[in-house]
Amino acid sequence: MRDLIAAAEAYPALVLNADFRPLSYFPLSLWAWQDAVKASFLGRVNIVSEYDRVVRSPSLEIRLPSVIALKEYVHLDRRPAFTRFNVFLRDRFICQYCFADFPSEHLTFDHVVPRSRGGRTTWVNVVTACQDCNLEKGSRLPQECGMHLARPPFQPTAYQLQENGRAFPPNFLHESWNDFLYWDAELED
Ligand SMILES: [Zn+2]
Repeated sequence: MRDLIAAAEAYPALVLNADFRPLSYFPLSLWAWQDAVKASFLGRVNIVSEYDRVVRSPSLEIRLPSVIALKEYVHLDRRPAFTRFNVFLRDRFICQYCFADFPSEHLTFDHVVPRSRGGRTTWVNVVTACQDCNLEKGSRLPQECGMHLARPPFQPTAYQLQENGRAFPPNFLHESWNDFLYWDAELED
């Protein structure tokens, strides 16, 4: 029984909005199968596609959903939250000073105008930076240390972050997800 549960945990459902676009690309919107099945029983989602995997209880047998779509459209916030993750995502996990990409644990953020000189912690003054560049820049302005920004920081839209997120393929992809993740790429062929 434990084996069955453990195996079933490896069957996440891709969650689509009511317009059949993923709720988010990065991280990809996935629900554990238990949540997907529960939402289906509560009538909140439609099952779009299923795994071959079946789970059984004494009274019930269900195939695990691989793709579900919310019945009610969720409006994605027009102005994304100002978080470390979203700053990294806006900048595509690329240090804005040396233009190299790093895993997020090796990234930090830099105040273009340092806080010690009145710089604020906002979308338009904070950029993704690697630890080396951040250290090198210290409390100077970019022009004072010959460092140049890849581009000036800006307030992104939710759409821009979504588009950037699409550049990062998830670790696990079920074949039934492809139609919902890469439809435009396939149409271009
Ligand atoms: Zn750097």
